[in-house]
Amino acid sequence: RGGQAQREIPFAQPGSLTRVIAIASGKGGVGKSSVTVNLAVSMAAQGLKVGIVDADIYGHSIPAMLGVADVRPTQVEDLIMPVPTASGVSVISIGMLKPRRDQVVAWRGPMLDRALVQMLADVYWGSLDVLLLDLPPGTGDVAISLGQHLPSAEVVVVTTPQDAATEVAERAGTMASMMHQRVIGVLENMSWLPCPHCTPEGKDHRIDVFGTGGGQRTATTLGQRFGYDVPLLGRIPLDTSLREGGDVGKPIVESDPTAPGALVLREVARTL
Ligand code: ADP
Repeated sequence: RGGQAQREIPFAQPGSLTRVIAIASGKGGVGKSSVTVNLAVSMAAQGLKVGIVDADIYGHSIPAMLGVADVRPTQVEDLIMPVPTASGVSVISIGMLKPRRDQVVAWRGPMLDRALVQMLADVYWGSLDVLLLDLPPGTGDVAISLGQHLPSAEVVVVTTPQDAATEVAERAGTMASMMHQRVIGVLENMSWLPCPHCTPEGKDHRIDVFGTGGGQRTATTLGQRFGYDVPLLGRIPLDTSLREGGDVGKPIVESDPTAPGALVLREVARTL
């Protein structure tokens, strides 16, 4: 946009009616993107107008998880139109801003900042009820930029039950708080594996693949650190159908809505 003045971020304006909820994690692979798409689709099914900004520079997997991996956004004059999906959620991904799909996003802070602002301000979002923002894992440049541009964003921290994951999750939450954002809860993912070989009598047997209690520990620690209640929003078990739903672009809350993980995600979407 050359020397032109940057357009303002509508969600940062005092009268904005859009809730911005950033989904954060300490490290990659804990299910942050899966959570983002499933919360978004659940909220859209409730009748809310929902958008997703996929700002995960390492993972940008949201378009594939919503079945629009090959769709490029169109442009109307100098506004970018977000990509509509079958679930009714509109999405823009940092991957869509790259000239070529196979290109690596090897951008430094200022470029990332510009990309984030572009996805928030230069995209025609219309009147959204909720904008979910999939952050890169950790406490890097994008999280700092978001904090600077949108201190009003609320943050949900995703973690597995594992000690090593909760420590970095706490750091991601603390970072959000330093940027004056409110952490509205912790969501534990991959909480257990329902025993696949159990007889009907023992069918609730859970295998704690990644240990137990990490979500609650993260929530408690953050709550004590911030001096307000940070609830554990839910615990999502390991589930093959959740992974498959992501791979084929059909989120589990739609494709298998009564799966245990889907029930948790729909409930969390209702209570957020
Ligand atoms: P992140 O965004 O934190 O990097 P993803 O959402 O991309 O994590 O998840 C990483 C991988 O794990 C994906 O293939 C996803 O389908 C899978 N996955 C996430 N949560 C679960 C779960 N509860 N059960 C099974 N697979 C899961």
